[in-house]
Amino acid sequence: MNPAALGAALALALPTSLPPSAPADSVGAVLRDSSERAALAEVLDGRLVLAADAKEDEAVFYKEALRTLLKTPTGRSLAEAFADLPGGPVTVRFESLERIGGKAVAEDGKDAVVLGRTLLSWKPEWAAQQGAGLLAHELLGHMLSSRRARAAGVGWEHAACLEDEVDAGLVGTLVTLEAGWRFLDPGAESLLKDRPAYEAELQWRQPEYAVALRDAELADPRGALRARLAQVEGRFDTPQTRELFGRALRERLDFLESRPDVRQSLADYAAHPFHREMEAAIVLRLARLRTLAPPPPEDQSPLSGDAEAALAPH
Ligand SMILES: [Zn+2]
Repeated sequence: MNPAALGAALALALPTSLPPSAPADSVGAVLRDSSERAALAEVLDGRLVLAADAKEDEAVFYKEALRTLLKTPTGRSLAEAFADLPGGPVTVRFESLERIGGKAVAEDGKDAVVLGRTLLSWKPEWAAQQGAGLLAHELLGHMLSSRRARAAGVGWEHAACLEDEVDAGLVGTLVTLEAGWRFLDPGAESLLKDRPAYEAELQWRQPEYAVALRDAELADPRGALRARLAQVEGRFDTPQTRELFGRALRERLDFLESRPDVRQSLADYAAHPFHREMEAAIVLRLARLRTLAPPPPEDQSPLSGDAEAALAPH
């Protein structure tokens, strides 16, 4: 569609309630309350679907997050890119998630974005900005890049690399800041200062990231994961956490051990055009993040005072 028309449609204030006749589970129902916005609804309708059994509070949160996301430049341009890609609908649903705010489930025919129900207890004034960032992280970071990677024949390789999380993190942070959030989270702050140090720290946040590979590790994934496995014991105090990380690393190592073809495809991925595009996108997003006015140091993370209170579940 005409990007100018889309921009004009989005520049308008978005609705706060659904027209009575709109089906509750469609993106169009969120946006199609005027002819100007119908163009945007047309782009996204059928691509993004709220789960049919969503509760009322989940629907309210989702619609507000989506409206906020589509008001941001990064959210808008990536939503257009998402709508242009082939692929079935992505279902958005809520679950009780431990440890994380959301996740993207990328399986052909069953693509879904899952958001944690903890989000629903956030203060409403913060929920739209943070919700928009989280939805962008999962949908326009992970899901969009996964669909592109799968189309390029490197879906597994992309998902096995830390670039997936670095990119999604940047997309979410940009949308949150463009939506008006005033604080740079500690991860984004660290990424701006020193990407290698950020990535080294990121890999210990979740077992899923611990098995993910950085550029320099693609040539010898087994060596990299063995080195990580050797650090697990000294890294964590609790046996449960050691077990979680240790098991994930051992399982990935066993898999790589049994699949020389996968090891080769990871080595090849380092020079793959899709990987180079991801790296270029990350560089551009980092540059964009630098241009967004940083808050004064006293307002930046580590969070304290108002920001910490706002982020804590209520
Ligand atoms: Zn993520």
